[in-house]
Amino acid sequence: MKETVHQLLNSQINKEFYSAYLYLEFSNYFKAKGLDGFANWYMIQAQEERDHAMLFYQYLQNENQIVTLEAIEKPDKSFSCHMDVLKAGLAHEEYVTSLINDIYAAAYEVKDFRTMQFLDWFVKEQGEEETNANDLITKMELFGSDPKSLYMLNQELAARVYSAPSLVL
Ligand code: MG
Repeated sequence: MKETVHQLLNSQINKEFYSAYLYLEFSNYFKAKGLDGFANWYMIQAQEERDHAMLFYQYLQNENQIVTLEAIEKPDKSFSCHMDVLKAGLAHEEYVTSLINDIYAAAYEVKDFRTMQFLDWFVKEQGEEETNANDLITKMELFGSDPKSLYMLNQELAARVYSAPSLVL
């Protein structure tokens, strides 16, 4: 594997663990606000991000590449209302999409077709992540200001259950 691609894949392990940390902070925020459904939704999101990190970790090991684990940054918690959190979630997913695209471009540059194939799953996953984040914002815009509707939205999000990623290495 070319070093440029190796470095980017290794750094993505850290970015995905940071994502898990960020969503854990979101879950923590909503738990403190009494919105258990939102807290559940972000807790599961955090689990998914940890899975993503482990997929990059596993892929590098499978390719006989050295894995270097770096320090995970403190989660950004510069939000002051529910909507701020949801919008920070969307902005973060857009950022992660740009990271995946950068790795894909680097792999394409050096004709690393195996890495491109591995990343295909993440390209699709990022589309879903952005859709989910957008949907949450739309629902909050529509229902967030009415306590009864917010209660029902919270109930809806409480129903989310964890499922392991469809990509198996
Ligand atoms: Mg992710």
